[in-house]
Amino acid sequence: MDFENYFWPIKLGFIYDVIVVGAGLAGLRTAEQLAAAGKEVAIIDKNGIGGIFVNEVLDVYMPSTQSLKVEPTGYTTGEAFIEHIVKVLPNNKPIDFAKEEVQLIRYNHGLIMLCCSPTTTYFCKSVVFATGNGYNAGLVQQYKSLKNPKTRNICVLGSDIYATYSSFVLSYYFKNVYTIDRAKTREQNDFLDIVEQAGNIQWLPMCDIKDRIYTRNKLSSMVLTTGDEIRCSAVLDTREQKPDNAFVGPFAKLDADGFIQTNIYGACALPGVFAAGACTGKNFKFSSEIMVEATVAAENVLKFLKETYGG
Ligand SMILES: Cc1cc2nc3c(=O)[nH]c(=O)nc-3n(C[C@H](O)[C@H](O)[C@H](O)COP(=O)(O)OP(=O)(O)OC[C@H]3O[C@@H](n4cnc5c(N)ncnc54)[C@H](O)[C@@H]3O)c2cc1C
Repeated sequence: MDFENYFWPIKLGFIYDVIVVGAGLAGLRTAEQLAAAGKEVAIIDKNGIGGIFVNEVLDVYMPSTQSLKVEPTGYTTGEAFIEHIVKVLPNNKPIDFAKEEVQLIRYNHGLIMLCCSPTTTYFCKSVVFATGNGYNAGLVQQYKSLKNPKTRNICVLGSDIYATYSSFVLSYYFKNVYTIDRAKTREQNDFLDIVEQAGNIQWLPMCDIKDRIYTRNKLSSMVLTTGDEIRCSAVLDTREQKPDNAFVGPFAKLDADGFIQTNIYGACALPGVFAAGACTGKNFKFSSEIMVEATVAAENVLKFLKETYGG
């Protein structure tokens, strides 16, 4: 679905009140709230509109699995959710959008400058980072880089809630998913019910990968510490998934894992800089929490604009 058609193209040379980086649940909700309050808002996302929830979670398995939480949005398809966001906006305040990667952020003449390339820069009074936690990229990369993933198997390392949900999403794209955890027994997996909902996930407790076997430079199978060999073409090591927030530079402090640090109002290190959503913490955040964080950040952006610019 081409969600970008719902948004207007970003205006070069225009000074936005707010630019939101990331068009996932957090970015969309923040932008929606700010535009509805009458602000000039733009969103920039390197992968297009929707982020992990709309593109991977809602559209892939939500319609078939009622037990997972969707209450915060109440929508069972990504399209319906985007339509909702766009419809609530007053007609004269559309959200502008650019499909670009923000690579650098600087101050320029008192404004915040977002550089997407040496020649493309956008200006704003306030910025909200809603860049997610990198899981989207990790997941999408796995199945997009392979030909015919439906005929192939993938190994997922780890079995915390992120790993389990990732296995679930991947089970839609791959023939089989092997979810491997070196430390947990079957009884210790709190999310076994999710694994069991998909007929093609195999949960392999108390083992690790011993060897990777390549055929013509391509991964063809894995040897496990149990001695078993399983055919597989890809591995998602959920422990290696990290957000890529280096570009925020001095505008926001990062913790040791690369997540953006904020105070309880969503504010970052410098005035006018805010963050919301999965980019602000390693713990799994359900969409309900993301929506609340985005609303809090939006409210505090409005407060900042009023105090600093009088409106
Ligand atoms: C596999 C999986 C299953 C889940 N299942 C559920 C569920 O069933 N129920 C539930 O409530 N929650 C679920 N969640 C949690 C919830 O969906 C996510 O936490 C939430 O959607 C994250 O939203 P976000 O907007 O913070 O990040 P994301 O959706 O990841 O969006 C971040 C966006 O920022 C963009 N971006 C990053 N860096 C840049 C840059 N430099 N320049 C431009 N763009 C950039 C990315 O392209 C991305 O689109 C699940 C999460 C995962 C990973």
